[in-house]
Amino acid sequence: MIEFQSVSKKYSDAADAFALSGVSLDIAKGELVYLAGPSGAGKSTLMKMVAAIERPTSGRVIVSGHDIGKLKKAGVPFLRRKLGLIFQHQRLLNDRTILANVMLPLVVAGAPKGAAAERARAALDKVGMLDRVKALPLELSGGEQQRVAIARAIVNRPQIILADEPTANLDRAAADKVIGALHAFHSVGVTCVISTHDEQILAGAARVIRLEHGQLAGDTAANAGGGAP
Ligand code: ADP
Ligand code: ADP
Repeated sequence: MIEFQSVSKKYSDAADAFALSGVSLDIAKGELVYLAGPSGAGKSTLMKMVAAIERPTSGRVIVSGHDIGKLKKAGVPFLRRKLGLIFQHQRLLNDRTILANVMLPLVVAGAPKGAAAERARAALDKVGMLDRVKALPLELSGGEQQRVAIARAIVNRPQIILADEPTANLDRAAADKVIGALHAFHSVGVTCVISTHDEQILAGAARVIRLEHGQLAGDTAANAGGGAP
């Protein structure tokens, strides 16, 4: 589903370091994978390449059959439709209700309002936020806002969820609820890639890919070349 073949990324010719360097990995359909590593290790860069927000400087990135390095501008929306993105900069719209926020991707895709509202409610139900549909984002806690962001990311039924530090700045209970919501989508077959610093979450994870200074520092997958950390 997601394949990196000797991928390196330099943000500019002037940059003296590679953000990613010689990274190879394979994430199968339906897997749930955690990306770990200190700040600056390259976790966001890796996820941005999966979403074709950034392109590899060398090597190949294949996502659901799309070769990211060769993807034409017109192909990007087709790729993105298969992805649910939960990135730090993608805030909820503060002047619209929770329901309106989650309906938005469907409305933009041309779905009728009634059908969009029904799907959005189903998605909010899955993340335990159905009782807050009329609230505005700023009336919710950080963890609740993050669960709404998850509902918005999955409402189009993506094949892959990419979540970049979805539990940052959350307390234990809120973080566990966010992770629980992501695991619920994994359990219905969605491939999930989640970056985190949270060692408690990583301790219970089936597969952890560790990055350090842009390089693969460990991959707990049994068949991975990186070896266990
Ligand atoms: P992480 O997500 O693990 O914190 P990043 O992928 O954000 O790491 O960053 C990896 C490296 O790439 C860092 O050295 C960072 O400063 C650099 N970097 C990230 N984004 C950019 C950018 N847009 N332009 C230049 N350098 C960048
Ligand atoms: P509905 O069929 O009314 O959309 P579901 O219970 O089947 O209700 O789905 C609930 C929500 O979960 C939906 O909004 C759907 O978009 C979301 N979802 C995202 N990805 C998947 C998936 N792979 N399988 C099932 N539901 C998914």
